[in-house]
Formats: sequence, C-alpha cells, structure tokens
Amino acid sequence: MGYDVHRLVEGRALFLGGIRIDHALGLLGHSDADVLIHAICDALLGAANMRDIGYHFPDTSDATLDMDSKIILRKTVELIAAKGYRVGNIDATICAERPKINPHIPAMQKCLAEVIGCGEDAISIKLPPLRKWVLWDVRKAWLRMRSA
Ligand SMILES: [Zn+2]
Repeated sequence: MGYDVHRLVEGRALFLGGIRIDHALGLLGHSDADVLIHAICDALLGAANMRDIGYHFPDTSDATLDMDSKIILRKTVELIAAKGYRVGNIDATICAERPKINPHIPAMQKCLAEVIGCGEDAISIKLPPLRKWVLWDVRKAWLRMRSA
C-alpha cells in the first residue's frame, strides 16, 4: 500500500497518472508532483520490502528536481525487477474534488501500462465519492496509524 498527498497551487502544471491535465491549479512538489505515480511507486517498493520513494528518490536531490514522475516509476519497476518481482496489478484510489478525473482515467491507464510494461486492464483507478467528513476521517485515521 502506498499513500501520497500534494497541495494544489497556482502556477504549476497538473500531472496525474503520467498525463498532463488542463486545470487552473497544479500539484506543488519537488518533482512534477504526480501524486498518483508517487503512491504507486511507494506501494511497489513497500510490497518488495525496499523502503519507500523518498529513500530512493529524495526530494532534496537536484537529480529529482522537476523530474518527470514517469521516470521515477520506470526506475521503481527496474528496482523491484532486480529483486525478482514484477507488477501483477495496481489498484489505485484518487481523492480529489476538482478537476473531474473520470474522463482522464483511460489515458492514465494507457500511460501507466506503457511505463510499467503491463496490460491496461491490470491498472485500476478508482474515485471514491468525497465528503468533507471523509477527508477529516482520513486525517484522523492517519494520526491513529502514526500513533499506533
Ligand atoms: Zn509525492
């Protein structure tokens, strides 16, 4: 399981699932801040017991500044392959109110499948219905996880 959060800000292009989405806001981060790819990389590394994305791609390094996250994903797949693992399937959930993500899902699946080298039907991208209390509850759950 992987998890990632970035803030939406003005003056940044929005990259999600390897594609660029037209939107007034973009995700703030050191690389291109593709939050979906980061969470996928974290999940793959964790499943292979190879620490996390920050360990392999530190956000303090010049090498990862404004980096295309597809490169991070490609390298992550190579890292786990070196330990004898390959990607079976991916089940991802995006929590975002805006922009509308649904129309972009097929393009994301195609892009991610190409980078990973798997079939598009091995990539599931889900959008839960969001309410304010859901976000609040996730935050509390996260705190509970950290204090457990
Ligand atoms: Zn991230």
